[in-house]
Amino acid sequence: NEAKSANHGVRLFEPGMERHIEHGLTLLSDLRRAAEADEFFLLFQPKLRLDDGRCDAAEVLVRWRHPQRGIVPPDRFIPFAEQTGAIKAITRWVLGHALLQLAQWHREGWAGLSLNVNVSTRDLMQPDFPAQVERALRHAGVAAGHLCLEVTESAIMDDPLLAMDCLQALNRLGVRLAIDDFGTGYSSLAYLKKLPVQELKIDRSFISSLDRDEADVTIVRSTIDMAHHMGLSVVAEGIETEAVSQRLRAFGCDQAQGYLYSRPLSSTDFVDWLRQHRS
Ligand code: C2E
Ligand code: CA
Ligand code: CA
Ligand code: CA
Repeated sequence: NEAKSANHGVRLFEPGMERHIEHGLTLLSDLRRAAEADEFFLLFQPKLRLDDGRCDAAEVLVRWRHPQRGIVPPDRFIPFAEQTGAIKAITRWVLGHALLQLAQWHREGWAGLSLNVNVSTRDLMQPDFPAQVERALRHAGVAAGHLCLEVTESAIMDDPLLAMDCLQALNRLGVRLAIDDFGTGYSSLAYLKKLPVQELKIDRSFISSLDRDEADVTIVRSTIDMAHHMGLSVVAEGIETEAVSQRLRAFGCDQAQGYLYSRPLSSTDFVDWLRQHRS
């Protein structure tokens, strides 16, 4: 209260702020330890082709098994990891483990399978990121064309020129690129045209009420048409109902992901799902 009156009503010190900062520092040191201690694990969500229903790819989604706090979803630690730079170690862990898993699946006969891995702004701003990806591919023995990196619009728009250099270097390696959460950022179409991307993922917020909301229908249809004119493959994420799936198929959307087909699965459950799905 003294601090409040001395500063014209601006509170410089919130009660509980100490605990907040302490919590942040604990989280940071926990995160730094987590990659070394292998506390992360990966889930795989099937990505299907809408025309014939085949699945030849999955998106990799990270989870954190915290020794005290239990399983922590990515929304609770990825933004923090991005702010503090801890994301670089997480991306390295995720990429390395995802590619080793993919190599094993290729050996087990799932030869056509590809994986989509999420990367953040901080990753794209590292000049040696493409080299790091190349090393991870070589270490696992996976061909670059079986990896697609998902980058959000906002990650690119943070520093478009630097991001562009990185994306072009990744493309030269043969890695595929996807724009994630499309429609939620502020990327101009002019930039989109220049980006060396192959896939466009329409954000869930436009997909979920596609069977009811005519404004969403207009947005999604024109996004699909625009993407196709630019030679991009379109993925719709967050499909939960058959009605939405049918509309997307009618609009010519290429690929689909969502709880309707499958939730994100552990590696063993994913292979079981693939077996059942293919038979
Ligand atoms: P995202 O990349 O947009 O991933 C899609 C999210 O939607 C996932 O949440 C997935 O479980 C969820 N989802 C999939 N289908 C449906 C559906 O039909 N309905 C609903 N309501 N949700 C669906 P998750 O796994 O909690 O991941 C949240 C976000 O955390 C991701 O959003 C991504 O931005 C980030 N993230 C996850 N894993 C990684 C990672 O390895 N690295 C980085 N940098 N970010 C990650
Ligand atoms: Ca994603
Ligand atoms: Ca997304
Ligand atoms: Ca998202």
